[in-house]
Amino acid sequence: MCGIVAYIGKKEAYPIIIKGLQRLEYRGYDSAGIALLNGNLNVYKKAGKVADLAAFVKEENLSGTIGMGHTRWATHGEPNDRNAHPHYSESKNLAIIHNGIIENYASIKQELINLGHTFKSDTDTEVLIHLIEEIQNKTKVATEEAVRLALGEVIGAYAIVVLSKKEPHKIIAARKGSPIVVGIGKDEYFVASDATPIVEYTKNVAYLNDGEVATVDNGKLSVKTIDNETKVPFVQELELKLEAIEKGGFDHFMLKEIYEQPRSIWDSMRGRVDSKIKHLSWVE
Ligand code: GLU
Repeated sequence: MCGIVAYIGKKEAYPIIIKGLQRLEYRGYDSAGIALLNGNLNVYKKAGKVADLAAFVKEENLSGTIGMGHTRWATHGEPNDRNAHPHYSESKNLAIIHNGIIENYASIKQELINLGHTFKSDTDTEVLIHLIEEIQNKTKVATEEAVRLALGEVIGAYAIVVLSKKEPHKIIAARKGSPIVVGIGKDEYFVASDATPIVEYTKNVAYLNDGEVATVDNGKLSVKTIDNETKVPFVQELELKLEAIEKGGFDHFMLKEIYEQPRSIWDSMRGRVDSKIKHLSWVE
């Protein structure tokens, strides 16, 4: 199970993101990466632990008040630096982090290759960000609109966050099948795959529903469905404390792990088993 954390606000994003990734380490992962927007859209990623990523970026310019981080559980492509998230679009103006799988990535990838796209990773995720950019180039719509249109073309499960170099006041997130929670602070927003990286900053959260795209733009949160219906985000107060959230609401970690077994088995199989065939097979 992989992790997502993103920040937009007035504080430095890097320390919040790296701490958030550490909070998500309990979920298990094979590589980690971050993107920071500070005039440039810089991506740093590394196979291994969050501590390896932190050591890797030590000498870099880590300033910026917008950014996102990811811990990956590889489903498409080996767990290595190249396949770690975030992934850039063709022009490097967009970057994405993604939990889940894009089932029809191979056919979309072939279409994009025919249009001249080149890919740097073996992931399904990179295909999605190239598709978003291709749609944006064709239709000239804002990035959140291109994200919405692209998601209308993909089959699969996802929680994603997208940043755009040209829109440094914006974070876009969407979900289907994998959770996304938006934390609402004072002059700041957080996006994460569960509340653990958020709870120490704000208790006000909005959980996205399946098929919803959230945009934080200039300090305002708006939500649309993939079918272009505007939604009013339901903001609720987190009652759980950090310790309880880490235990997923259970009294003990052991109980949590017992109840997580079906999910863990699902996660370790996802992307590797073709449910259409009756026996187990590896999906290339
Ligand atoms: N399918 C994506 C990949 O293999 C995302 C995996 C994840 O959920 O971390 O890179």
